[in-house]
Amino acid sequence: MSDSSFQIAVIKGDGIGIDVTEATLAVIDSAQQSIGGFSLALNYISAGAGYYQETGNDIQPGGEEAAGEADAILLGAIGLPSVRYTDGTEISPHLRLRDRFQLYAGIRPVRAYPNAPQRLADPRAKDIDMIILRESTEGLFYTAAVHNRCPVETNDEVQDVMRITRKTTEKLHDFAFKLAQKRKRRGFAGKVTCVDKANVFKSMAFFRQIFDERCVNYPDIEKGYNYVDAQALDFIRYPWAFDVLVMENIFGDILSDLAGGLVGGMGMAACGEIGDHHGLFQPAHGSAPDIMGQDKANPLAAILSGALMLDYLADKSGNEALANAATMIEDAVYQGFEANEIRPMEFGGDMGTKAVTQAVINRIQAMKTA
Ligand code: ATP
Repeated sequence: MSDSSFQIAVIKGDGIGIDVTEATLAVIDSAQQSIGGFSLALNYISAGAGYYQETGNDIQPGGEEAAGEADAILLGAIGLPSVRYTDGTEISPHLRLRDRFQLYAGIRPVRAYPNAPQRLADPRAKDIDMIILRESTEGLFYTAAVHNRCPVETNDEVQDVMRITRKTTEKLHDFAFKLAQKRKRRGFAGKVTCVDKANVFKSMAFFRQIFDERCVNYPDIEKGYNYVDAQALDFIRYPWAFDVLVMENIFGDILSDLAGGLVGGMGMAACGEIGDHHGLFQPAHGSAPDIMGQDKANPLAAILSGALMLDYLADKSGNEALANAATMIEDAVYQGFEANEIRPMEFGGDMGTKAVTQAVINRIQAMKTA
């Protein structure tokens, strides 16, 4: 990786994944042209249910290695309910990528946008702007999703295991504190809340113990604690009070859907999955076969995931232009909603995928000339 040119592995995948990836690339291209100072070389990799149907492989030969050589991976969505492996499970090469590259830090931003649905009547709901950091390689998913086996699986009993390791948890908490520091520099509160169930599970007490060990290295960051059940309640009572929240895999899975629901729908749910040496960026939604090929998908989750990717590359390379491009895209989405220029069909509006994408690009071009 040089400081200004980057290799991006692009996996469009299935269904609306194809449309929202194309939308994201168009928006990134527009921000890149406005700001300059970096270039992206795209390496397209075929993968997904459609590819499996055609070839019997879920990713092109050498595709995983090629993804590993890139500076970042941009993914649309993978899987179609009608296409399965011979064991009956859905096509999921992206889960192998997550495991292979140990993408432990799952970033899920949750932000309220003007004129987008807000489920809470309290006017302070407009200030919701937080990040859920979901550990993504172990926790309660370790045995089932990642390794597809249970320690006990008989006709009479099945057990899954909650796996918390010191190695991953130290890195996760460090990631959370550094993220809060970065946000603090941008005007946020500078607080990390550890969400767990430390009063019941030893694994969760261990998770919290490591949080306490690591936080001493970040004296500028406020720390908080919440049990996961209380956190669910507080997301309804005062979600605007949270900044960065760090949690185990299944808690993050559930709470990020709940929090995402507070500020819109799946079409706004961006996601970054980051490890020590790799980062994969994709919307949190699936391939949405019910609306595919109809220009109905909201591309903003993918577009905002693209902004996360630029920010990640900025951190990795120290190239400020990428961070500026990321901010430009985020601001364009925010301002587009504010001016009522972005009206996705997902929220009852009149704009399909292409129109929403063009509205974001128009904003970026207007920001350039402003
Ligand atoms: P997966 O398990 O792969 O995440 P899923 O079956 O849980 O997939 P999605 O494919 O995300 O779910 O779709 C769930 C619902 O949300 C569908 O009704 C779909 O149309 C809608 N949806 C998902 N993404 C979008 C989007 N970007 N724009 C509009 N609607 C969407």
